[in-house]
Amino acid sequence: MTEAPAPESTSSSESAPRRVVVTGGAGFLGSHLCTELVARGWHVVCLDNFLTGSPANVAHLVQDPRFQLVRCDVTDFVHVPGEVDLVLHFASPASPVDYLKLPIQTLKVGSIGTGHALGLAKEKGARFLLASTSEVYGDPQEHPQREDYWGHVNPIGPRGVYDEAKRYAEALTTAYRTAHGVDTAIVRIFNTYGPRMRPYDGRAIPTFIRQALAGEPLTVAGDGSQTRSVCYVDDLVRGILALAESGHPGPVNIGNPHERTVLEIAEDVLAATGSTAGITFVERPQDDPTVRRPDTTLAQELLGWEPEVDWHQGLRRTVSWFERALVESA
Ligand code: NAD
Repeated sequence: MTEAPAPESTSSSESAPRRVVVTGGAGFLGSHLCTELVARGWHVVCLDNFLTGSPANVAHLVQDPRFQLVRCDVTDFVHVPGEVDLVLHFASPASPVDYLKLPIQTLKVGSIGTGHALGLAKEKGARFLLASTSEVYGDPQEHPQREDYWGHVNPIGPRGVYDEAKRYAEALTTAYRTAHGVDTAIVRIFNTYGPRMRPYDGRAIPTFIRQALAGEPLTVAGDGSQTRSVCYVDDLVRGILALAESGHPGPVNIGNPHERTVLEIAEDVLAATGSTAGITFVERPQDDPTVRRPDTTLAQELLGWEPEVDWHQGLRRTVSWFERALVESA
């Protein structure tokens, strides 16, 4: 782990490698972004305080000269010497278990942290992309959710710390665009799954896989009729980078529009793991959204993006990763 060094060349010639700062780069999504960016030839500076992420998520990159891992709390300051072409702001607790345990850190990283990341983009003349969320739509009264829907959020409900932090972050990003001329983009990410999710992060898919692999019954909230639209992480990364490479400000929904009930997801996890432990029904958390499905027309029209990874294929890949991770951690 290092202080972020200046790039080898300060030349702005077209052949110089492009340099990107990824905040929260040691988290689930950030680590997949860093991996893909390095593979595409970018020089990547990953800033993370490991609050909910881990250096292990980017261990496969640390020997690569194009990758730097810097321990940094983006609510304190963000300082990166040298040129920067792109800032991807992904730092934030993201799962309900995390942000309910870390309410103040969640609000601070969405507000102060976003301000610092935007300040870096402004200083460097870089494009800035905010990782926003479908949670800005709250418990939606329009379905599916288009980008022009304003949302239905309870600011003092338990999820308010996350939803309102992201809504503020969107407003701040928009203000830097209009007041300072920063080239900004906002992506509204819908539920995503894949390797490197944490088994205890509280989200349905890793919880179900962990329970199934341990031979425990899967705990479905309520009667399981609430829906989720889940996107495999590789599809999401492709969509985010397409938006980053475009000049579009967004917001743009990126997610898989195929809607499934939580009960169907649980049944598919049982099938994919071969578990016979069955399902048990538990109380549904307050403010748990009833329906959630992105309208991805804008992503298709602007970016030519649509998800490609079939649910059963993505689930098999995720289960395989969890099986390996559990063996390695045993
Ligand atoms: P994650 O918890 O795995 O990753 C977040 C990363 O941010 C972690 O590595 C954490 O240590 C880091 N971090 C948190 N606070 C920080 C701070 N103050 N300074 C520096 N680093 C900090 O979560 P994720 O699922 O990878 O989500 C990443 C981003 O995408 C978040 O902004 C989240 O709101 C957004 N998002 C994710 C999903 C999803 O389905 N995973 C959906 C919508 C939005």
